[in-house]
Amino acid sequence: MMQAIEHQAVNPWVALAYLVSGVFFILALRGLSSPATSQAGNRFGMIGMLIAVVTTLATHDIANIVEILIAIAVGGAIGLVIARRIAMTAMPELVAAFHSLVGLAAVLVGWAAYLNPGAFGLLESSLRFSAELYDGTVISGASNSISPVSKVEMGLGIAIGAITFSGSVIAFLKLSGKMSGSPILLPVRHLINLGTLAVIIVLTALFAMAGPDQTLPLIVALTIAAFVIGFLLIIPIGGADMPVVVSMLNSYSGWAAAAMGFTLGNTAMIITGALVGSSGAILSYIMCRAMNRSFISVIAGGFGADASAGGGETKEQRPYKQGSAADAAFMLEQAEKVIIIPGYGMAVAQAQHALREMADLLEEKGVEVKYAIHPVAGRMPGHMNVLLAEAQVPYENVFELEDINSEFAQADVAFIIGANDVVNPAAKTDKSSPIYGMPVFDVDKAKQVFFIKRSMGGVGYAGVDNDVFYMDQTMMLLSDAKKMVEEIVKALD
Ligand code: NDP
Repeated sequence: MMQAIEHQAVNPWVALAYLVSGVFFILALRGLSSPATSQAGNRFGMIGMLIAVVTTLATHDIANIVEILIAIAVGGAIGLVIARRIAMTAMPELVAAFHSLVGLAAVLVGWAAYLNPGAFGLLESSLRFSAELYDGTVISGASNSISPVSKVEMGLGIAIGAITFSGSVIAFLKLSGKMSGSPILLPVRHLINLGTLAVIIVLTALFAMAGPDQTLPLIVALTIAAFVIGFLLIIPIGGADMPVVVSMLNSYSGWAAAAMGFTLGNTAMIITGALVGSSGAILSYIMCRAMNRSFISVIAGGFGADASAGGGETKEQRPYKQGSAADAAFMLEQAEKVIIIPGYGMAVAQAQHALREMADLLEEKGVEVKYAIHPVAGRMPGHMNVLLAEAQVPYENVFELEDINSEFAQADVAFIIGANDVVNPAAKTDKSSPIYGMPVFDVDKAKQVFFIKRSMGGVGYAGVDNDVFYMDQTMMLLSDAKKMVEEIVKALD
C-alpha cells in the first residue's frame, strides 16, 4: 500500500488526469443546464468518468484487475438491464434506490478503512512516510493509530453515507407507493432530530480523540445514530415536498462520495462528490423557492409540516361536465390560444408524441399553442421537459410557471393532460391542504378548461380533491391520456 500512497502523493500525471476529469464534469453540468446542450453535457460526463476510472485502475494497487473487471461486468450488466426495463414513471424511485447505494458504499468504505487502516494508508506512520517523500527523507517506525483528522473524515463519511442510505430507502418506499406518501409526524420530532444530530457530532469528536482501543463502540454508535436520523428526517416529508427530498438526497450522496474521497485520498472523488453535493443543494434550494417552501424547514425534516394537514380526505359528490374527444377537437379548432399543462398522467400514458401531433395540427390551423411546465410536475425534476424533448416539441414553445402564468387570462383553452396538484387552487386558498403555499397555474382564468384524467375517483400525488373539476368552464375528458389525445387528433384531421 505504500506504493499506492506514493503514486498518489508524487505522480503529477495522476493529479493532472483527475483535474482534467474534474473539468469534464464541470462542462457536463454546464451542458446539462439547457435542453439544447444536454446531450453534449452527458458526453462530457462520460468522458470525465472514463478518465477518472481508468486513471484510478491504472495507478492504484486496489485489487486484482481481473476481479475488478468481473465486478464492472456484473454491475454494468445489472445497470444495463435496469436502465432498459425501467419505465420513465419509475425513474424517481430508481434514482432514490441508486442514492441509497452511494450512501451504503460510503458507510462500507468508512468501515473498511477503520478495520484495515494500513491498506488505506491511514496509519500515522504511513502518512508521515508519504509527507516526507517530497524531500526524499524516509521515516521508519510504526504507529498503529489513525490520525484524528483521518478519523473525523471517516466519521463524517460514515455519518453522511448512513443518512443518505436510510433516507433514500424511505424515499424509495414512498415514491414507489410501498409506503404511504403522507407525512408521518412524530411528536417532538424537532427535538428528537436535533438531539440525534448533536449525538452524531459529539460521537464524531469522541471517536477522533479516542485511543485505538476505545474507538469501536463509538463508531458503532455513530453509524446507528446516523442510520436513525436519515430515517427520521425523511418520514415527516410527504406530498408535494417529495421532489425536494429527491434532489436533497442527491446532494447528500455527493457529500458522502466526497467524504469517501478524503478517506481514500482520491482527488477525483472529492471533486465529483463536491460537484454533485453542491449542484444537488442548489437544485433543492431552487425547488424550495419554486414551491414556496423554506429550505431549512425541508432539510430539517418537515419543520413547517402541519400535523393537521393531510391528504386522503373523503370526496363529496359534486356535479361536473363531461365531454368527448369530438367536443374537445371542435372547441380547440375555434381557439386562438391554447396552453397545454402536462403532468404525471401524461408520463404514465406516454402521450407526449400524440400531444405533439395534436399541437402540430392546431398550429397548422392557425392556433397558437404553448406548453406550461410546473417545476414539480411529474415525479422528478425536469420530468416533463425530458418527455416533451423526446417528442421533439420545440423548446421555444415550452415555458416555466412564472413566465406563462399571467397568460392564462388571455388563453381560450387551458388543456390539462395528466396534471392535477400543479393546477389545484387549494394551494392558494386552503390553509389545511398539504399543497398550501405551492404556486399553481391559474387555469381558472382561461375561458375554457379541458381536464384529461382516467376517472373522477383518481387524485393527484398529494391526495386531495381539485375544485377545477367542478368549474363552469371545465370539461372533463375521462380517459387514458394517450387514447384521448389520439382521438382528438383523429377528429381534427
Ligand atoms: P399529479 O400526481 O398531481 O396528478 C396526476 C394526474 O394524472 C391524476 O389526476 C391522475 O388521475 C392522472 N393520470 C394518471 N395516469 C393517467 C393516464 N394514464 N391517463 C390520464 N390521466 C392519468 O401530477 P402533477 O404532475 O400535477 O403533480 C406532481 C405531484 O407529484 C406534485 O404533488 C409533486 O409535488 C409530486 N412529486 C413531484 C416530484 C418531482 O420531482 N416532480 C417527485 C415526487 C413527487 P387518474 O388517476 O384519475 O387518471
